[in-house]
Amino acid sequence: IDAPYLRKTTRSAQLYKEAAQWIPGGVTANIKHFEPYPIVMESADGAFLYDVDGNSYIDYNLCYGALLLGHGHPGVTTAIHEQLSQIGTTIFGTPHKLETEMARVLVDLYPSIEKVRFTNSGMEATLLAIRLATAWTGRKKIAKFEGHYHGSYDQVLISVNPKKRDFKERPSVTSDSYGLPDYYSENTVVLPFNDLDQTADILKKHCDEIAAVIMEPIQGGFIPPDRAFLRAIRELTRQYGIILIFDEVKTGFRMGLLGAQGLYDIVPDLTALGKVLGGGFPVGAVGGHQNIMELCSPTGGADILTAGEQHTSDQNKPLFHSGTYNGHPIVLSAGLATIQALQAPGSYQQLEENTLQLRAGIEEILRRYHIASQTVGAGSIFNLVLTDRPVRQIQDVLETDLSLRRTLDTYLLDQGIFIKPLNRFSMSIAHTAAVINETLERFELGVKRLTGK
Ligand code: PMP
Repeated sequence: IDAPYLRKTTRSAQLYKEAAQWIPGGVTANIKHFEPYPIVMESADGAFLYDVDGNSYIDYNLCYGALLLGHGHPGVTTAIHEQLSQIGTTIFGTPHKLETEMARVLVDLYPSIEKVRFTNSGMEATLLAIRLATAWTGRKKIAKFEGHYHGSYDQVLISVNPKKRDFKERPSVTSDSYGLPDYYSENTVVLPFNDLDQTADILKKHCDEIAAVIMEPIQGGFIPPDRAFLRAIRELTRQYGIILIFDEVKTGFRMGLLGAQGLYDIVPDLTALGKVLGGGFPVGAVGGHQNIMELCSPTGGADILTAGEQHTSDQNKPLFHSGTYNGHPIVLSAGLATIQALQAPGSYQQLEENTLQLRAGIEEILRRYHIASQTVGAGSIFNLVLTDRPVRQIQDVLETDLSLRRTLDTYLLDQGIFIKPLNRFSMSIAHTAAVINETLERFELGVKRLTGK
């Protein structure tokens, strides 16, 4: 790869090489890698990242969307310092007040949530949600949508990265990693997003076997669902006794305080949250209908199953859910401070106005340089897709000129716009009008270079 930013990131290259001696691929999560090496950061502030070579970047990755308030928001940093000094420890390992406080905040906000359990990541949240659904229904298959990501464990690493449209067998069940037992591909039903006819047919065919439909209500946080499609999924799952799980790890708190379910006015049975909820610390949460949630109560879970019509393979055990760090007091203090900041009047309106301004600016520049493209998104996340055809499914993105987009992204890195190549743009409240104007100037320089004009 011949990317201009490589010349000014030599220290990153060196540190990456060093890291790779001790860490496989030099990264602690595969998504952090990009060719020829990821940029190593040293500090951050508001909308900006600073790398080890002294370059600064306007950050549009924002830790994959987690930092809705930007880097080092004073409300969050003050809250965690106060919490640390107030409790005199880093963690209790027992119940504490902030757990109840955060659970009540979520229950008050979300009509779909009556009880809450905390986890340490989004993937643990979807894992628990699926286990609850499996126990509740006594069924073993789950249905997921093609291209939807729910974490990096076996059951959901299926058909996340479909390579092409295969109309004969679409949607096909593909395993996205080495090392996944066949059990999971055999017990996963894959559905096509935004395609109601096919989805309804597939669900009908497997309606007695499917415990849960798990979905990102807005795919990847940026491809919006048809309203009628989402409503139909809600109706069909109710009709078949299938638990509907909304994975709002990415969309929760980004599409307004109530996530995509608020935006589309749909009440799922279970919701997985993460990212923004932790204010930049590791977190996840599952919330939902209290009878389902009570299945993991160490005192009451099995009773609900025996008393109700529902069933499980072993009625004598409650559903086990645990985690040494669940409900971590420092994490929850950061999350509560984040929600408090987001509740300030006008914060979402400002965020969305700024996002729309940036999207309109990007589209205008690309039009001027005759590059067929559009921004696709919702709330404060969007993606840049180099096509003027409609984008309704992951394949509509995969069929565009991704190498052109990748090249553009490397030029953007050179201009000091941090976006992980081919990834989405996430905004924060620290991305003010001035930051957006600066971004657009830099963006145009990147496009100029791309087109050789
Ligand atoms: N679900 C969705 C929709 C996500 O975007 C992510 C993270 N990108 C996850 C689950 C997994 O969350 P985590 O990385 O915190 O495990």
